Formats: sequence, C-alpha cells, structure tokens
Amino acid sequence: MSAIESPVANLPLSADQQIDVFLDLSEVQNLFIAGESVPALSGETFVSRDPSTDHPLATVALADSADVDRAVAAAREAFQHGPWPRMRAAERGRILVAIATELRANADALARLESLDVGKPLAQGYADVETCARYFEFYGGIADKLVGTTIPVAPHLLDYTVKEPIGVSGQIIPFNYPMQNTGRGGAPALAVGCTVVLKPSPESPLSPLAVAALALRAGLPAGVLNVVPGGPAAGAALAGHPGIDQVTFTGSVPTGVSVAQAAAANVVPAVLELGGKSPSVVFGDADVDRAVNGIMGSIFSNAGQTCSAGTRLLLQRGPGGDRILEVLIERTKKLSIGRGIDGVDLGPLISARQRDKVESFVDAAVSEGAELLSGGSRPDLDGDGYFFEPTILRVASNSATIAQTEVFGPVLTVIPFDTIDEAAAIANDTQYGLSAYVWTTNIDAGLAMASRIRSGQVNVNTYNVGTGIEIPFGGFKKSGWGREKGIEGLASYTQVKNVCIGIGEEYLGMQ
Ligand code: NAD
Repeated sequence: MSAIESPVANLPLSADQQIDVFLDLSEVQNLFIAGESVPALSGETFVSRDPSTDHPLATVALADSADVDRAVAAAREAFQHGPWPRMRAAERGRILVAIATELRANADALARLESLDVGKPLAQGYADVETCARYFEFYGGIADKLVGTTIPVAPHLLDYTVKEPIGVSGQIIPFNYPMQNTGRGGAPALAVGCTVVLKPSPESPLSPLAVAALALRAGLPAGVLNVVPGGPAAGAALAGHPGIDQVTFTGSVPTGVSVAQAAAANVVPAVLELGGKSPSVVFGDADVDRAVNGIMGSIFSNAGQTCSAGTRLLLQRGPGGDRILEVLIERTKKLSIGRGIDGVDLGPLISARQRDKVESFVDAAVSEGAELLSGGSRPDLDGDGYFFEPTILRVASNSATIAQTEVFGPVLTVIPFDTIDEAAAIANDTQYGLSAYVWTTNIDAGLAMASRIRSGQVNVNTYNVGTGIEIPFGGFKKSGWGREKGIEGLASYTQVKNVCIGIGEEYLGMQ
C-alpha cells in the first residue's frame, strides 16, 4: 500500500497551492467576461475538487443563461466594434504568439493547476501547457497567410474570394484536457478574427480561466476571449444562443446530438468532436517494446480519459501476440498510481461518479464472461481519491458490451484475430471512428490497415500524434463532424465570400 500525501487536506489552501497572481485559489474564481473577473449574476458558486483527494480545490462562480447572455454580448461587441477583427492579420498573429510565450513563462504554475484540477500526472500537465502554447504559436503563424483565390471566369470579370471570420464562436469543452481544448478551439478562431465564448466543464474549470487571464496580459483585447464555467444549463444556453455564429463542441455523443440540434435551430454550423472506441491493431510481427509502449501510452495516459484512447487491443493469435500480451501485463502491473502532482504514472479519474461508472463496466464485463488479466479494482491507497487500477480484460469477441462501449477509464479490452481481413472487420465494427493504431513490421499490412480502417486518424507504429497540433483531427461515424487542429481546423471559423467585379469591356479593348 502506498500512502498519498495531501497538501490539500484542509482549507485554507497551503502556500504551495497558490498558483500565481493570475489565479489565487484561496479566492473565488470568477467568470471572465469582457476582460474582467466577475461573479455570476445569480451569485451562485460551486466547488471544484481535487480528484486525487476529494478535497476542495477552488470555489468557482457558476454561470447560468444570464451570464452566457453577458458573455455573448461582450464577444459580439468585440467582434462588431472592437479592434480584433479589424487589426492587421500579422498583429493578431503577434498577439497569439505572445500568448504562447506567456503560457510557457508560467508553465510551472499552469502544469500544477492542470494536474491538481484534472488529477493527471504532472508530466502530462507540462505536456498540456506546451500543447496549448503550440496552438497559439501555430495559428498565430498562420494568421497572415490565409489567402483567397482569383477565379478566371471571363476577361471582363475580376472574381476573387476572401476568407472572412465567421463571427462569435461558442465553444463547449469536456473535463479531460481543458487547457489543450482552450487552445485547440480558441487559437484558430482568434487567428482569423473571431471572438469566443468558452464554457469549460464544471469538473475542471480552472485552466481555461488562467489561459484567458494570461491572454489578456499578453495583449488580447477585452471581450475577445470570454470564459463561463458552468454545467449543462450554461452549455445549452450557449449552444442555442441566437447571438453566436458557430459552435465547437467536444464531449459525449448524447450531449453532441443536443448541441447539434440547438445549433441547427439557429442555422449555425457546429463542429462535433465526440467519443471513440479506437483499436490498437497488433500483428504478431510487431516490435514488442514499441508496440507495448504504444498500447500503454494510448490507453493509460490521463487514466484512460482520452477520446482517442486505444481502448480495444486487437491482438493476432500466435506466439508473437502472446509475447506482446505477456510483456504488456507485466509492465501494466508495475505502473505507479497516486496523486498526479507527485509524478506518478497514473492519476485518479475525474470524479467518484466516473470511477464508479468505470468499475461497474468492468464488473459487468467480468460477469458477461470477460477474463480479467490485470487490475479490475480500486487500488489500496490511503485517502478518498477516485482511483482505479489500470485494467486489462480479454473477451472472446468484439460484440462484448465492454468492446462496444466507451468506458473513459484505464480499461483495455483484448480481442483476438487471425487474418488481416478479420482485423479490419473488427476494427470497423464500432459506432465510432476517431483514431486507430496499427503495430506491425510489415509495411503492406500497415498500409492495408491505414486504407481499410474508417477513422479520422490512423497511426502506424506510433501513437502520440493525437497531441500533434499540425495534423487534422476529427471523427468518422458517431465520433463527430468537422476537423480541428492543423490548417483544416481554420475552416470552421471562416466563411468564404466571393466578390465579382465587372469591368467594362471597352476598358479592356475588347470591343
Ligand atoms: P459531456 O458530453 O458530459 O460534457 C461535455 C461538455 O458539455 C461539458 O462542458 C458539459 O458541461 C457540457 N454539457 C452538458 N450537457 C450539456 C447540454 N445539454 N448542452 C450543452 N452543453 C452541455 O462530456 P464529458 O464527460 O465532459 O467528456 C467526456 C466525453 O468527451 C467522452 O465521450 C470523450 O470521448 C469526449 N471527448 C472527445 C474529444 C474529441 O476531440 N473527439 C476530446 C475529449 C473528450
């Protein structure tokens, strides 16, 4: 049994928890609207808890629809009359790059904040700061390179296109990567001149507030990025608000459906980044160390609470596959579990509810006949953190409930296959299509799987490109609509205007 030290045991918070002047956790964390920190109009607050200990971490203002109205009005004012969409694109780009610099300058505080609020290992907190900074840097660099086209309709018609900002973007994000998501949706929207209202999850509201405060410090005009932590009521109010021009939603399928319906009622486009049940397809010829590293990294990062997690291990029958499974189980049993900020391999789940849900999925799988190969229970740790062991189950077929349902925890389901045709069929036998991972030393097998798997990303002999900000990311099937990240991610925030100018034919000497 390993004890978990808790510096967050009692309020008031200890000195090492004061994150920085931009977020003093002993104060109520207000909403961030029009460049100011303001309480909710209702005066309501909620407590964000440290999932490693179940102790209060911060008291946060709870936005409702009236606060969403205020935030949308601020973003609308900044879009219609403020400097942001009107300034030179290069100047917008410079400010986004300055935000990246500000984030990196505060990496220690931000990484700690993310680790405490989400429970993730501190190293992942640092990685999330860097990824968020890279979004601002990447899209800052693109801001002045968004060129239109000229179209050769006829000599007397000068026809050209302009990419204009779509307007006010409403962004609703989940609990698992709040800082990354703030950059992922925020930076491309801001780069093209949009303004943003962002609603974080009440389970992890802190880092988006910190990023917004730092962005203001870096020179982002007031009202351009507004943050309103709240629950489903605030989310629904934002998704269906008549004052927004576009919605970016990241979260579960059922919530995504209701967000898409609300957006449709206002005839505004929605990007939907939803769930996944991504396969790691491992052929018997795969390099053992690389495959095991990749399988573990893709399922156990962030305690399995990653949309693109490789949750299904499709393993080829035979000695190669057996060896990979043996090493995988051995190494999984050695993973350290504990408080994220203590530098462990695996932190807690986000909430007791989520931990209980994961536990009940595992229990149901075992009673349905799954074989438990590792983990499967709450670890024996002191304290009330929401921990669950890294778990490996083997099922006979992909039709098992655990192979079809998004668990959103550190649970890997092993499914056997023999042939490449069978592997492709099992990989595609899911309602989702977000990511896929293939491990093989046979280039033909790798390319065949890349072509046959229906998902937004296929990774062969690598797993961590999901954090790569340069590449498009998004789902096939129920994993969503549209793409974020990369140059493709800009399309959601621009609309194309065609301008056609008739030139008198006599001026062209054509008569
Ligand atoms: P969720 O759907 O419960 O919540 C997502 C967000 O929607 C939260 O901010 C929540 O407060 C808000 N919300 C809740 N009800 C709403 C409503 N009726 N209208 C508008 N907003 C509402 O998801 P979650 O539990 O926070 O996150 C886990 C899910 O997110 C998983 O399914 C995971 O796969 C998915 N996810 C997808 C991606 C991706 O890029 N595809 C990334 C991360 C997470």
